Formats: sequence, C-alpha cells, structure tokens
Amino acid sequence: MDLCDIEILDTTKTISDFINDKIKERHSVVSIPDIIYLHEVSFHVANLDDLHQKHIRWLRTLPRVKPFYAVKCNSTPAVIRMLSTLGTGFDCASKGEIELVLSLGVTPEKIIFAHTTKPQSHIKYASTRGVDMMTFDCEEELLKISACHTRAKLVLRIAVDDSKSAIKLSQKFGTKPSVVKKLLERCKELDLEVIGVSFHVGSGCTDSLAYRQAIEDARHVFDTAVLLGFQMRLLDIGGGFPGKEGFQIQFDEFSKVINEALDEFFPADSGVQVIAEPGRYYVDSAFTLAVNVFAKKVVMDDSSSDPENDRVMMYYISDGVFGSLNCLISYPAHTNVAPGEKRYRSIIWGPTCSSVDRVTATYWMPEVQVGDWLLIDNMGAYSVCCSSDFNCFYKAHVYPVLSAQTWNITPKNELETPLPLQSSYN
Ligand code: PLP
Repeated sequence: MDLCDIEILDTTKTISDFINDKIKERHSVVSIPDIIYLHEVSFHVANLDDLHQKHIRWLRTLPRVKPFYAVKCNSTPAVIRMLSTLGTGFDCASKGEIELVLSLGVTPEKIIFAHTTKPQSHIKYASTRGVDMMTFDCEEELLKISACHTRAKLVLRIAVDDSKSAIKLSQKFGTKPSVVKKLLERCKELDLEVIGVSFHVGSGCTDSLAYRQAIEDARHVFDTAVLLGFQMRLLDIGGGFPGKEGFQIQFDEFSKVINEALDEFFPADSGVQVIAEPGRYYVDSAFTLAVNVFAKKVVMDDSSSDPENDRVMMYYISDGVFGSLNCLISYPAHTNVAPGEKRYRSIIWGPTCSSVDRVTATYWMPEVQVGDWLLIDNMGAYSVCCSSDFNCFYKAHVYPVLSAQTWNITPKNELETPLPLQSSYN
C-alpha cells in the first residue's frame, strides 16, 4: 500500500500516545521557515485501524451489500487508499473526486458516479476515463448523458421517505413514483441502458424501517423497468448508516431490517447485485480533532443569582464552524475531569472574526488555560472536506495512523489482494 503519509504505530503505542507526542512536538517547534506557528494549528489523527474494523463489521453484518465509500464524506487520500486496499468501491460526486480516486489506483469499474445532476464536462470526463455507472433522476440529465456518454450504465435514483434523518436529500434528488414510467420510456427512446435503481434515506438516519420501505419502493421500479425491457441488475441502497462511537447497536438493527427486506424483495437468486454508498459509517469515529485554546476571557453572567456559578469562561480555539467544526456545532469537547473538579459554564468560539463562528453556546467543563489542547472525538464525517481557510486561518493537519498489527496484514502494493477476511466476499 502506498503510504500516503500514513505513520505506522509501533506495538507499544496507543492513539492517545500518538496525540500527546504530536502536541509535544508542536511545542518543541516554535516556528518553521514560512512562519506557520505550528503549535497553535489544530490537527486530526485518523485512526485507520478503525476503518479496518468497520469494514470487517460491514462484511459480517451486511454480507450481500458491497460498500462503495462516499468520497464526499472525507476525501483524505490515506482513507481512500486504505478502503481501496480493503476492497471497497467508491461513490464519486464530481470529476474531481473521480480524478482523485483514479489517481490513487482505483479502477473505473469500482466507481459509481452517484450525483444525479452533473455538469456536462464531468460526464464527458467520466466517459473518457471509463467510469460508466452513473445515477440520474430527470429527463434533462438523460439528454446530457445521451450527448456525452452513450455507453453509460444508468441507475435511476428514486425519492424515498427521509423524514427520520438528520440531513434530508429527497427534496433535492430523486424521481417521484408518478414519473418513473415516463422517464424510463424516455431512456428507451434515447437508446440508453438502465441497469438499476438507487435511493438515499437521508444522512444520519434514525429509522431502520426507512430502508425497508425504500427497498420495497425500489422493487416496484424494477418491475416497471423489466416490463419495458430493461435488464435490471443493480440495487443501490445509498448511505445514512451511523458511524460514531457506539454505532454498533443501531447499525446491527438497520442491517437486520435491510437483510430481511433484501431477502423478501430481491432474493439472492434474483441475480441483482446490491451495493451501498456509506460515508459516515466508515470515517466518523476514526478521526479525533485536537484544538488549541489560544485565547480566553472570563466574563460575569449578570443574569445569574448564584455566586458560585456567575463566571462564564469564553475560550477561543484554533478550529471552528468555518473549519473542521462546520457541521458539528453540538459536539461537546472531551476533557479528562478529575472527580469533584469544578465545572464552569463555557462558551467556545472558533478563531475567525465572525460571531457565527461559535462551536458551543453552553458547555459545562473544568477551567482550561491558554495553550491547553481539547480533543474532540467522532470528527471524520463532513469535517475536513468542508473546511475553509476563512480569515486565512490554517486548516487542520491530518495525521493518518495505522497500527503495526494491522499494517502487517494489509496487502502492500497489491490493491487487488484481499485481506484474509475478504475471502467470503465478492
Ligand atoms: N450517497 C449520496 C448520493 C449522498 O448524497 C451522500 C451524502 O450526502 C452519501 C452517499 C453518504 O451518506 P452518509 O454519509 O449518510 O452515509
């Protein structure tokens, strides 16, 4: 495996040791030649062993569903490389994502271009690079595809119930049931090949039954397409799976419902290949963010009648909502609290001059000082990739780490060689 800046942890070290070493290292380097004050720049530690464990769990729990990792969720090259080595496919949303994934050694047939509304130049690029599988949900997209990529293998994305998900997608993407037949007939007229159906129940889904209903909806679309003469062979059940620490119970519950629905509506002998586009699932718990407290103010809470709790701490940290913490405003910071240690109401601000840049409005935590570091877990999903350098603050560095044990069983330079556990998985 190309190392993509991955550091191999020797057997005596833990991820916590690694984070502490990085913090110490930062304090020993006051400045580097271009005057980046490294000791105040946030950093992520990406634990690639966590990805490995997630993958093993996926294979065991959803044996019929091949994961195509959603690159949009976190496009760190080491993440892509690790997942490619483990044997996943990839869901790309743009020319740039396809370029990135191909540059890391992934072959085109392992990519689905899973964006239903694509710029024409991106479709042309997919065509020249042999990326044929792509989604669509409207007639205008079909016209573009028919002009630029006649070999395309099309997957019709349908709108499904996403009311129980944190981030809803069906208002923006997906065909309504009433237009499915007309759209498929248009594919016939344009001589385009439709091979399957996709859906997304919304990111951060909380209801396993959303998958069951969506799989049943997809079955109806399959039946309509088969009657029109299409050879339907792919079902794509999208993303929405949990990935934070403690994800297991909910993931197992989702998987049970999905496996039952697949057996009922798409039995194994139907010849339909089932794929998914998990993003959060793979990366959420793998990333820990370390942020530096670079400024502090203590203010009086005039509304408080409790003299014990009338001081409010305001901390200014090296990352914020315009950086890695953009979609995680409610995530609490982690500190080690000694029993009985006093906690203060704390407001945590990001580094920029915008007042929108507030990470938490109220968080009860022990007092910390300028120069201290706070660690925030579960920072892998939609964090690094959505980060900007607003106000010219540096984006957080990413340090990918793999344990020596996992490194020893990971195929090197042979992307196609499966890990031992993968022998039961095609
Ligand atoms: N597939 C598509 C088309 C998406 O839009 C998204 C997220 O927005 C994903 C997959 C990944 O979803 P998640 O991170 O919830 O698994």
